[in-house]
Amino acid sequence: MPAVASHPPDHLVRPLVRALDAYVPGEQPQRGRLIKLNTNENPYPPSLKVIAATRDAVDGRLRLYPDPSAARLRMRLAKHHGCDPANIIVGNGSDELLAVAVRAFAEPASSVSASRQSAATVQYLTPSYSLYPTLAESHGARRNEVPLEADFTLPLPAALRRGRKWDFGAALTFVTTPNAPSGRGYSQEELEYLCSAMEGVVVLDEAYVDFASGNALALALSQPHVLVARTFSKGYSLCFQRVGYVVGHRELIAALAKLRDSYSVNGLGQVAALATLDDLPYYRANVKRIIKTRTRLTGELGALGFEVLPSETNFLLVRPPAPEAATWFTELRARKILVRYFEGSSLSDRLRITVGTDEEVDTLLRAVRAILRSGPSRSR
Ligand SMILES: *Cc1c(COP(=O)(O)O)cnc(C)c1O
Repeated sequence: MPAVASHPPDHLVRPLVRALDAYVPGEQPQRGRLIKLNTNENPYPPSLKVIAATRDAVDGRLRLYPDPSAARLRMRLAKHHGCDPANIIVGNGSDELLAVAVRAFAEPASSVSASRQSAATVQYLTPSYSLYPTLAESHGARRNEVPLEADFTLPLPAALRRGRKWDFGAALTFVTTPNAPSGRGYSQEELEYLCSAMEGVVVLDEAYVDFASGNALALALSQPHVLVARTFSKGYSLCFQRVGYVVGHRELIAALAKLRDSYSVNGLGQVAALATLDDLPYYRANVKRIIKTRTRLTGELGALGFEVLPSETNFLLVRPPAPEAATWFTELRARKILVRYFEGSSLSDRLRITVGTDEEVDTLLRAVRAILRSGPSRSR
């Protein structure tokens, strides 16, 4: 019998994959009573109608494949957004569609000549969604990172004219709007200006748009190279079900559809998303509550010495007073409150805090006051 090697030889895994930095999602503890303010989930549950509709769909149908193109859901979404179902593709979370967009629009760098590297370029702002670099790398595409201004505003319009860092020919540009993790919103004029400057596809990632004052859907429906990505995860309390979608020109949508896994959107997710669209006033009320809590949390943290960026999302990016952000993270975790800390990045002096329920926010504020009282140089 041959000896069993303790691990497979390196050459079994492609060098690109061996070198790949995997995306690091926020912690999802499966037990313990933690107040989860680390992954921007909606603190309010799905509506009772959504839960009932989902439960009602759990029967012998589980044997069948779901509708591969989510036709009913696309029809409802088209009606909702005033477009045609052919302008919409539904995915297993918008994350799936972001990955498919990279494969559909960007060449692997190795397959184009040095003079055509823009065709292999995935471009995005930093800091923004940290999934984009992983998607680009995993496809072998070139990355072009465009730094936001120091106050996290878009480098526009003068910087755009100067061409600073932008690759106008980039095959694909991702813009998180409103941005994560800064929480900043961008104006329609800025976005329109930016999109007009780009020759490749622009994906406006509107994961947090339900908490913002405006949206860029009209851009996606008027400019043939602009797509908008939306999700049921954040504004509609449906992370667990993984439903997202992209809106845009039918030809770009058709390109994405060719590459998406045929049955990627599970049947219960489709049912839940449809029921969500039947109960929108419930969700609008939750968004209103979250925005009210966001305003209160912004004010209270500000009064306690935190620097808080204005937010158009369901989270706040804050720079805490002493001690260090890392210590705040640990101290809050010891008090069973989970926030997001970006270790070893340009944001390592900050914390991202999801806006929870009013009770959760009260508990957070009590913990913050206790940590401030106990002094900066304490070890526990
Ligand atoms: C949460 C999030 C997504 C993905 O949402 P899905 O759960 O995959 O639909 C996409 N972009 C940003 C910026 C996000 O924060």
